Amino acid sequence: MKVLVVGSGGREHALVWKIRQSKKVEKVYCAPGNAGIKKNAQCVDIAATDVKGLLKFAKENGIHLTVVGPESALAAGIADAFAKEGLRIFGPDQEAAMLERSKVFAKEFMARHKIPTAEFKVFSDAKKAKRYIDKQEMPIVVKADGLAAGKGVIVAATADEAKQAVDSMMTDQDFGEAGSKIVIESCLEGEEASFIAFTDGKTVLPMPSSQDHKAVFEDDKGPNTGGMGAYSPAPVVTDQITDYVMEKVMLPAVKGMAAEGITYKGVLYAGLMIHRGRVNVLEFNCRFGDPEAQPLLMRLKSDLVDIMAAVIDEQLEQVKIKIDPRPTVCVVMASGGYPGGFEAEKNITGIQAAGRIPGVEIFHAGTSRKNGHLVNSGGRVLGVTAVGKNLGEAVKRAYRAVDKIHWSKCYYRNDIAHKALGRMRGFSPMVGIIMGSDSDLPIMKAASSFLISMDIPYEITVASAHRTPDKVMKYAAEARERGIRVIIAGAGMSAHLAGVIASHTDLPVIGVPIDASPLNGLDALLSTVQMPPGVPVATMGIGRSGAKNAAVFAARMLAADDKELEQRLVLFREDMVREVEEKSRNIE
Ligand code: AMP
Repeated sequence: MKVLVVGSGGREHALVWKIRQSKKVEKVYCAPGNAGIKKNAQCVDIAATDVKGLLKFAKENGIHLTVVGPESALAAGIADAFAKEGLRIFGPDQEAAMLERSKVFAKEFMARHKIPTAEFKVFSDAKKAKRYIDKQEMPIVVKADGLAAGKGVIVAATADEAKQAVDSMMTDQDFGEAGSKIVIESCLEGEEASFIAFTDGKTVLPMPSSQDHKAVFEDDKGPNTGGMGAYSPAPVVTDQITDYVMEKVMLPAVKGMAAEGITYKGVLYAGLMIHRGRVNVLEFNCRFGDPEAQPLLMRLKSDLVDIMAAVIDEQLEQVKIKIDPRPTVCVVMASGGYPGGFEAEKNITGIQAAGRIPGVEIFHAGTSRKNGHLVNSGGRVLGVTAVGKNLGEAVKRAYRAVDKIHWSKCYYRNDIAHKALGRMRGFSPMVGIIMGSDSDLPIMKAASSFLISMDIPYEITVASAHRTPDKVMKYAAEARERGIRVIIAGAGMSAHLAGVIASHTDLPVIGVPIDASPLNGLDALLSTVQMPPGVPVATMGIGRSGAKNAAVFAARMLAADDKELEQRLVLFREDMVREVEEKSRNIE
């Protein structure tokens, strides 16, 4: 099968990379592609929006499937033109792409179908828009109706700023036709996340959650870019939020389009704002995000071509998606100065060494060749993407690869995925580890290490049932309120810690007896395990292995309502099997 991928950025490189892995595919073309894509596909010099040129190429070269990356090509009607000629194409038609092409359409569509979104009003008259702004609370958001390469949204802190945005869009026409109508909407607070799914117009098949970093500088400062990095999964999108988004956003969107006579087929992307468990839709896109596609496609284990075929044939209900449970991170390396002007044609070094790091893939966005050298040719140049057994490892690997790559004035953010890591480092801990003395720490580290490897946020503290009983009681009484779901208590000698905690909380408590006396921990084991009826403590074995098992047990409890964690635990068990088999091979 011959596949044509349309586009030239990091997203398209990731698509080409993934499509190439399909056993059904014999050849991949990319139009126009870039210097990195050339390694995985034959690049043809046709612009992504040159629908006629692409159609001619597809017909002449017997292309079986065309996959569209950028919104500009979809807005130009590429899917309609190909379908009319009987060619198979993955991407929504021009009408369906209205969800991204027109913010006015998207907002009014959301209102019609009760999809949660910020309150808004539409204007085609600058004076009326400004009068409206005067009556609103600040900050407020002004959006140009049409496509403006991510620059048509202004979050205005003051009324003056908002009015300036109105003038630049409507009076000065900075975005041309795209600004002839505008949306003014209330400003939402919270954390953003991307929810991306395949749909054939009936079934919605979600990919894992992801989060991108739009601002150019660290701590989300500075002007917005196309995206400076992304990672998957986004911990802010819990299982409950996923269920909510499917029920209240994705399915109503696809069914709503169908009810309005539009079959939406392709990728549907909802940009979400999540605040204290409440979800609002900021925008819809009708294609993969860039850079979200890079970490997402790296986690996709299923054959992408099969999924795309099922979308085109409207048989998505028969597809089960397979996802690598390990997290992925993409760090975008950009030309210094981006999103403003930058110097191009600087030699890039170190890519091969970086690509040799296990678990790392380097997707090209703005690269070309000059005199045989790889050079930067766009604002965003490379998407250095890595997988790890936990998010921390993925981040470390990605930056280890980034460190090896260089060109004059290259720029990248150093804090990609740090929000998620912060959350895991105890920002909102789910497991509380408490121990009777700091001397128990070397043992209890076996528990914390396992929680880290499973990306489970935890906290750790010292409190003694006999010497600081008030602290222990307070800890137990307040743990649930702070979001703790399981408590692990490690103590030696007459170990009453776990029991005292269990008598002051309804949370599950796991006791770890520690060897700290001439009785070698048997005293601790007996005093932990022997609890009166009605005050349960789950007791593990003595010492390090007990501490580790306490964490594994806690993880299994948490996995009851966390599918991603459940899959990570499956991998952990598979690793154990491999280790034992290797030991057996060594002996044999
Ligand atoms: P959009 O293209 O509509 O997603 O807007 C681009 C970016 O502007 C979003 O990713 C947000 O960071 C920000 N934004 C858009 N709408 C709002 C809103 N109502 N409140 C706060 N920020 C917003």
